[in-house]
Amino acid sequence: MSTLNSKIPDGPLAQKWTNFKDKQNLVNPANKRKLEVIVVGTGLAGAAAAASLGELGFKVKNFCIQDSPRRAHSISAQGGINAAKNYPNDGDSVYRLFYDTIKGGDYRAREANVYRLAEVSNNIIDQCVAQGVPFAREYGGLLDNRSFGGALVSRTFYARGQTGQQLLLGAYSALSKEINKGSVEMYVRREMLDLVMIDGKARGIVTRNTVTGEVEKFAAHAVVVATGGYGNVFFLSTNAMNSNGSVVWQCYKKGAFFGNPCMVQIHPTCIPVHGDYQSKLTLMSESLRNDGRIWVPKNKEDAEKIQKGTLKPTEIAEENRDYYLERRYPAFGNLVPRDVASRAAKERCDAGHGVGTTGLAVYLDFKHSIERLGKSVIEARYGNLFQMYEKIVDENPYETPMMIYPAIHYTMGGIWVDYELQTTIPGLFAAGEANFSDHGANRLGASALMQGLADGYFVVPYTVQKYLADQINVPFFKTDTPEFEKAEKEVKDRLEKLLNNKGTKTVDSFHKKLGLIMWDNVGMARNKEGLEKAIKEIKVLREEFWKDVKVPGTMDGVNVELEKATRVADFLEMGELMAYDALNRTESCGGHFREEYQTKEGEAVRNDKDFMYVSAWEYAGENKDPILNKEDLKYEDIEVKTRNYKEA
Ligand SMILES: Cc1cc2nc3c(=O)[nH]c(=O)nc-3n(C[C@H](O)[C@H](O)[C@H](O)COP(=O)(O)OP(=O)(O)OC[C@H]3O[C@@H](n4cnc5c(N)ncnc54)[C@H](O)[C@@H]3O)c2cc1C
Repeated sequence: MSTLNSKIPDGPLAQKWTNFKDKQNLVNPANKRKLEVIVVGTGLAGAAAAASLGELGFKVKNFCIQDSPRRAHSISAQGGINAAKNYPNDGDSVYRLFYDTIKGGDYRAREANVYRLAEVSNNIIDQCVAQGVPFAREYGGLLDNRSFGGALVSRTFYARGQTGQQLLLGAYSALSKEINKGSVEMYVRREMLDLVMIDGKARGIVTRNTVTGEVEKFAAHAVVVATGGYGNVFFLSTNAMNSNGSVVWQCYKKGAFFGNPCMVQIHPTCIPVHGDYQSKLTLMSESLRNDGRIWVPKNKEDAEKIQKGTLKPTEIAEENRDYYLERRYPAFGNLVPRDVASRAAKERCDAGHGVGTTGLAVYLDFKHSIERLGKSVIEARYGNLFQMYEKIVDENPYETPMMIYPAIHYTMGGIWVDYELQTTIPGLFAAGEANFSDHGANRLGASALMQGLADGYFVVPYTVQKYLADQINVPFFKTDTPEFEKAEKEVKDRLEKLLNNKGTKTVDSFHKKLGLIMWDNVGMARNKEGLEKAIKEIKVLREEFWKDVKVPGTMDGVNVELEKATRVADFLEMGELMAYDALNRTESCGGHFREEYQTKEGEAVRNDKDFMYVSAWEYAGENKDPILNKEDLKYEDIEVKTRNYKEA
């Protein structure tokens, strides 16, 4: 077991980041161009980091899978981004955002990081407004806010249901300016397939050009990975089809610890699964819970009739509806955090009150808000989401309630990083959803965009600079060294092994099986027996994959099946680590719900005495059990309590 140094700066909580910035080492402008940085990813975290490092004067190489940086997964974010501006004057503050985030994460996040996140949240809004991001405004012209789960204030800035897209366009314009200046070299359609280390430090990457098929090598003084989350290990999720965990996994196998792999977020408001041949789930933004009320029929008989199609939701009288979130959590009501809302939906459906043909859905109803505010107001707030719902479900949500059910959405776990967002590999930094840093066991809505942009615009530019300050005499690295050649050969061998396997089953068929194992055993509810079963089943499936997977085509040119195969091969290892972590954590906290640890009312029972730590897993080698390292969490500014959303 290694000792983890989270490098939290000295001083009072509110002073730590200022102290860090005041005392850190800087690189003089003339020396910055002698230092190269690789940034992998062009989502909000990667694009913001690449643009900011380029603007500072470093030589940046930026990579992404898509044909354009602005098509990264972040573009799908709908609902909004949090900040502690307190524009509505409803009692918000940096401390309150910090407090809500720690509480929302069920006291499993690092205090100092979360405070910094809340502190820089306001700078993000200023930065984005200056870039021209068209945030929604009130009639008087001021920026508008709405509410998201786990908060009693309105602190979410938004651009209709397209906040991620608008923020990404802002980051993309900042990035484009640097590309035009020559400080950032952009490499699109490149998939990172390995990390290269020289003398124990991260010094480069190996990629495959997904258009020509060429395997390429790139060197730098430091590497920042911002490659997003690994939710697609579940096959069905709200993530983009290209989202993958492979870079996180490559770094783990090279020695970076993996923080809290089992911490996965299940989002309560997704369009329910509707068939066996589905490959994607669609999110209905959490913002809808501002105006939509969630309910199921009070009587099971009504639910059964709805499932059979003999009764319509609009025919159920008000007194026969159970607004179960408002009933169970009067203070937060429909705006409880996602883990709480998801479990409550599952509980009602398991008890036989679910709707839709499968019984695995609950209603999100806008009837009362349309009566109160008028259809045009609802349309202005959520028009594009309603349209999307109607296209998929073929029902008009202005007239009949939407059907929703929880689905895999976000991964709180990720590469373990210290306060400087540096991993356990010197010179390797991780930003955005790819790291584990700020959300503990559950992320609050609208806080992922905040974290991605905080990391990219405001943290990485300082901390990478600090790391590079003593390397100004280290010359540019070449890629014809033994370390690069070895990594390149290993990548090519692996790709060839997949192509030469000549099995009988498709990559997707394995991914789908893995997804089912994960959802059934490592999903919304977990228990010892199921987790042990999952670990065994994943091992068997992995062996079968390497024996019988069929990857058509060749290395040259476009080969989407080959791309999928490398990712699924990694998921087949990562899923096992997630189950391992979930098995080890014999408590319930946030999104990690162990059925053995719950109250009579079905609320999570945490075990602070034994589990107030971040699990930081270390790779021990092929077919060896991973090693558990622990980062103990200390709460000095917040009193640790049982989460309570029944009262304010
Ligand atoms: C439907 C949906 C709606 C959401 N809505 C909200 C919201 O309203 N508010 C909120 O705060 N959060 C929201 N989220 C979460 C949020 O969008 C993500 O957590 C966030 O955008 C992640 O940003 P990122 O920069 O870390 O990674 P991503 O945006 O996932 O970007 C990853 C980048 O890495 C690149 N990449 C990945 N693998 C490789 C590789 N092997 N080689 C090279 N490049 C690679 C990709 O090309 C991409 O450029 C939503 C998520 C979903 C799925």
